Amino acid sequence: MLPAQRLAVLSFHTSPLAQLGGRESGGMNVYVREVSAHLARSGLAVDVFTRRSDALQPDVLPMAPGVRLVHIDAGPPERLEKEELHPLAGTFARGVADFAAAEGVAYDLVHSHYWLAVEAGALLAREWDVPHVAMFHTLAEVKLLARSSEREPEARREAERRLVHEVDRIVAATEHEQRLLDQVYGVPRDRVEVIPLGVDRERFRPRAQLDARTALGIDPEARVLLAVGRIEPLKGLDILIESLAEMAGRDGLQLLIVGGDERAEREIARLREVAREAGVEALVRFVGPVPHERIGAYYNAADVVVVPSFYESFGLVAAEALASGVPVVASRVGGLTSTVADGRNGYLIPWRCPGPFAEKIDLLLANRPLREALGATAARSMERFEWPAVASGLLDLYASLLRDGVPGPAPQPVLAAP
Ligand code: UDP
Repeated sequence: MLPAQRLAVLSFHTSPLAQLGGRESGGMNVYVREVSAHLARSGLAVDVFTRRSDALQPDVLPMAPGVRLVHIDAGPPERLEKEELHPLAGTFARGVADFAAAEGVAYDLVHSHYWLAVEAGALLAREWDVPHVAMFHTLAEVKLLARSSEREPEARREAERRLVHEVDRIVAATEHEQRLLDQVYGVPRDRVEVIPLGVDRERFRPRAQLDARTALGIDPEARVLLAVGRIEPLKGLDILIESLAEMAGRDGLQLLIVGGDERAEREIARLREVAREAGVEALVRFVGPVPHERIGAYYNAADVVVVPSFYESFGLVAAEALASGVPVVASRVGGLTSTVADGRNGYLIPWRCPGPFAEKIDLLLANRPLREALGATAARSMERFEWPAVASGLLDLYASLLRDGVPGPAPQPVLAAP
């Protein structure tokens, strides 16, 4: 097998070092960070390219041993909306190609994340004549199927419908996503490699609840529900907030919501209004974003973690909570069905409405032995989700693409000169 030696990872619209829980930063950032570090441990030189969104960002930043983060100029060095980024994909690709030329390095393979980067990656892969692996993380049509009131720009829908057929291989987090790519986009299954995500089980493992609560200043007697993640309608927090009103025992009940940066303010205000109308305002606390290094304590402090999303391609939050030994009540959608096993480490709710969530949460809150039994199974059930295994799955995929070659047009200069 021909091992890859140098890998270009494209994370165009969001930096792997961005604060998590913001509008554009969550599971994908964790993935790029973890996977790059583990790939580099196998001897691969990894350069992660992201757009410069702040003039103070250095050109090159060491991110982990063997991993560099490279900031590329494309558009003004400030935060831009995703709609403004699509027209800049070519400029970004040109910047990456110029960086490679200036350094005198050649990449064996391009791995891009999210459709905006895949657009840039397609250009680079043709210019360099190397295989292109893509991970979409979310897809517009899939989001629209999951929640019809989602708003996605036509440019994204068009680009994804085209790009899924242009790349050499798509990495999907679950077989469910592989099936969707086939059914919704007509991508043959052998063009999709299923590699689940991992969990850092050193960071996320069972720890004494009392210690975690003491560290966070949470009442040891409280009954604590936790939701974590980017704050947007697709995450279904309305359902969870409304479910509080339907719970039998509300004494000492608290819902902590971790995540959301200043750009989530409008959505948070809307959710506060939902809570007010449901008469549960006093039970809900928006904690704000918490760095990934410190979020483990929140899981360990919780009695139940709830993931009421309309869709998750994998759902790292559920995986992290389970690894922490906490039962999860989650929507029965997407990747959540690959980690949450109904009745074994939590509950899967088939309906996107508050009553069934309230019923299962109540059941867990009222029954400590049940919670502890499910929590113990939860931690064990996550043992097979490991970042080193993800990296080794990717290395095998890269090797097979380099060995077999990829049929396609002859190499051609596709990037306009600066
Ligand atoms: N996260 C975090 N701090 C926050 C909010 C979220 O570290 O304030 C992390 C969380 O621990 C998880 C990721 O962001 O690792 C969210 O990933 P998930 O797959 O659940 O959702 P996505 O962002 O991909 O929709």
